Amino acid sequence: MNVFVLNCGSSSLKFQLISSDLEIIERDEDKQLAAGLIERVGSQSLINFRIDGKSSFKSAVPLRDHRAALNYVIQWLSSPETDIPGIKGIEDIHAVGHRVVHGGEAFVRAVKIDNEVIAGIEDCIELAPLHNPANLKGIHAAREVFGPTIPQVAIFDTAFHATMPETSYLYAIPYQIYRRYKIRKYGFHGTSHRYIAFRYGKLTGTPRENTNIITLHLGNGCSACAIKADKSIDTSMGFTPLEGLMMGTRCGDIDPTVIEYLSHKEGSSIDEVFSILNKRSGLLGISGLTNDLRDLEIEANEHQDRRAILAMDMFCGKVKKYIGAYLAGMNGADAICFSAGIGENAPDIRAKICSNMDFFGILLDEELNQQAVGGREMCISSPESRIKVYVIPTNEELVLARDTIRVVLNAPRYA
Ligand code: AMP
Repeated sequence: MNVFVLNCGSSSLKFQLISSDLEIIERDEDKQLAAGLIERVGSQSLINFRIDGKSSFKSAVPLRDHRAALNYVIQWLSSPETDIPGIKGIEDIHAVGHRVVHGGEAFVRAVKIDNEVIAGIEDCIELAPLHNPANLKGIHAAREVFGPTIPQVAIFDTAFHATMPETSYLYAIPYQIYRRYKIRKYGFHGTSHRYIAFRYGKLTGTPRENTNIITLHLGNGCSACAIKADKSIDTSMGFTPLEGLMMGTRCGDIDPTVIEYLSHKEGSSIDEVFSILNKRSGLLGISGLTNDLRDLEIEANEHQDRRAILAMDMFCGKVKKYIGAYLAGMNGADAICFSAGIGENAPDIRAKICSNMDFFGILLDEELNQQAVGGREMCISSPESRIKVYVIPTNEELVLARDTIRVVLNAPRYA
C-alpha cells in the first residue's frame, strides 16, 4: 500500500510517501519513497522534495493555497522524470494520513475521516487555534485532490496521552471549570513518544506491558513523557504546548500571575504577552541570540557567551527536574530515551542533563554518548547504570503511515 502522509501548518505542507502493509510493518521494512516540504504556501512558495533520501528537487513557485500546493506535489510525484517505482499517477496512492494536533477528549485514537470527524476536529479549534485550522486545510485540500474513494485518516498528537489518569491531567482548579470548558492537560508530541516507546521495546526486547521509561522529545518544541506499561501516565506539555520544559522560543512552566503583571506593566494585551511567551522566550529569550541550539553551542564554546551558556544550563536543569519528578511518580524507570533534533544530536546537552544523577543510578558512557549523533539509535549509558539511557531517533511520519494502514484495514492496536 502506498500511503501519503501529510502534516500541514498554516503556511506549510510537509509530506512523505511511504510504501508499507501489515506484514511489512511486522517486519519493520516500511519504505519511504519520497518526502518533501513546501514553505510559504500562499505566496512565492519554497519547494524542497527528496526521493528515497537521495536526489532532491528544489524550486520556488507561487502556490495560492494548500490545494494548489498538494496538486503540485502530486504532479511531481507522478511525473515520469521523478520516476518513483510504482507511482504513475494519483491512482497509485492508496490512503492518506493526516497529522492533527488536537483531538480534545473526543479522539483517543486514529480515526477514518468523515464529515462527523471533521466536525469533531473543528470543535477542537478553540483548544488549538493555531494548529487545527491548518490541519483542516490539509484535510479539505486532500479530499478535493484525492476524491472520495481514497480513504483518509486523522492521527492526533494528543491521543497517546489519553491514558493519563485524572490525577495527572487535572489542574487544581474548580472541578466544574474543567467540566464546563474541558480545561485540563492534554499533552502533545504523542505520536513521537509512542514511537520512541515502541522502538525501545524492539531494541531491548522488552514486552509492551514492561515498558517503563521516560521519553524526552527535545527539538524546537520539547516535552517529556512518563510511560508506564507502554501507556502515557504523565507528560510535560499541558492544555497547550506552552507548558512544561523550556523550548526554542517557548517559556514552559511559569506562574500564570506573570501574564497579568506583565500585561499591566507594559500596557500590552494578553495576546501580546502570549506572543512573548510563545515566540520570544525559551532559549531565544534567555540567550537574546537564537533558538537554535547549534548556534548557542558555538557562541558558548567559541565566545564563552554568558547568556548562551545560561540558556543551555537552564534548559538542561528543567529537563532534569522533570526526570526527577517522573522517577518519583513512576517509582523508578528502566530507561530514559532522548529524541528529536536536540535529543538526537547534542551529546553535550545529554551529558549535562544526565550529570550528577548517580543518586538515581544514571551513568553515561561518554564515548558512546559522543557517538550517538546523526540518527543513530543506541544505548549511551555505562553497563553499571541502573537506569539505562538511550538515543532513539523519532519518526512521526512512519507512525502516521502505519496508523493510516491499520485504520484503513481495520487492524487492531492502533491506540
Ligand atoms: P527539531 O524541532 O526536532 O527539528 O529540532 C530542532 C532543534 O534541534 C534546534 O534547536 C536545532 O538547533 C537542534 N539540532 C539539530 N541538529 C543539531 C546538531 N547537530 N547539534 C545540536 N543541535 C541540533
